[in-house]
Amino acid sequence: MNASLPDVAAQTAPLRLLIAAPRGFCAGVDRAIEIVERALQRFGAPVYVRHEIVHNRFVVDGLKAKGAIFVEELDQVPDGAPVVFSAHGVPKVVPQDATARGLDWLDATCPLVSKVHRQAERQVEAGRHILFVGHKGHPEVIGTMGQVPEGTITLVETVNDVAKLPFGTDKPLAFLTQTTLSVDDTAEIVAALRAKFPQITGPKAEDICYATSNRQEAVKAIAAECDLLLVIGAPNSSNSLRLVEVAERMGTRSRLIQRANEIDPEWLDGVNTLGLTAGASAPEVLVREVVAKIGELRPVSEETVTTAEEKMVFKLPRQLLD
Ligand code: SF4
Repeated sequence: MNASLPDVAAQTAPLRLLIAAPRGFCAGVDRAIEIVERALQRFGAPVYVRHEIVHNRFVVDGLKAKGAIFVEELDQVPDGAPVVFSAHGVPKVVPQDATARGLDWLDATCPLVSKVHRQAERQVEAGRHILFVGHKGHPEVIGTMGQVPEGTITLVETVNDVAKLPFGTDKPLAFLTQTTLSVDDTAEIVAALRAKFPQITGPKAEDICYATSNRQEAVKAIAAECDLLLVIGAPNSSNSLRLVEVAERMGTRSRLIQRANEIDPEWLDGVNTLGLTAGASAPEVLVREVVAKIGELRPVSEETVTTAEEKMVFKLPRQLLD
């Protein structure tokens, strides 16, 4: 009889739920969503949006319900229709084409991504070849590489890529980075670039944005205590994927989920402390949905662990302020 007491206690003890802060929406995502909402008010539906405004299906479906139409390319936007470019940024040719067609366009590119675009232009104007640290195929990478002429920028994804770069130490070089990378991986790649090319110039810190680095720090603060960490985010959300990696690198099992209904109750077997966070494009309502779902499966004692306060707000485009 006594032998079964610890098992009963283990089953009825509340699950300790550590919720990371900061988590979820960043200032760039808030701004991008507001741009689409204000465009809908100003122009009326439909408003076209080139690419998912932010990488979150819940957000995209909410805007679709209000009259936004999501397309992948500008040629899918009919003449005369308003169009918004997503938070990830677009190659330079996209606004040029939109202007040439006389479209009303609004740019929801995050100002921190636009800053990297301007740096890319300046480096090429100064005669330097850019080594751009990022993930192939991500829309932000396509957008940033599309700011400068072909042949003036090379993508670098790993330390191994650095070893293969064909440039000498006399070639004028600069590095820039995607905003949503792993802070630790990027530091290694930048160190390899600086070691191989002592002449390379670059930003004082890499271009990883405040929201990406704060969310990674917050995960680092709780992961060691957690038996499992859930990250709410989309499979194509770079900053969300990096949060999973950060936890796993610390030896903590981690799962990326988009909604509460993806939680398999078996995941909680043997879990005493569960961590929870959300990528920069996941709204807080999805965090509460997940907390409620976990509460249905186990009694929960909830704690928020805060590692930074965020007060960043970005201005809206001038066209929406008149
Ligand atoms: S994750 Fe960073 S770069 Fe991306 S939209 Fe948010 S603040 Fe901007």
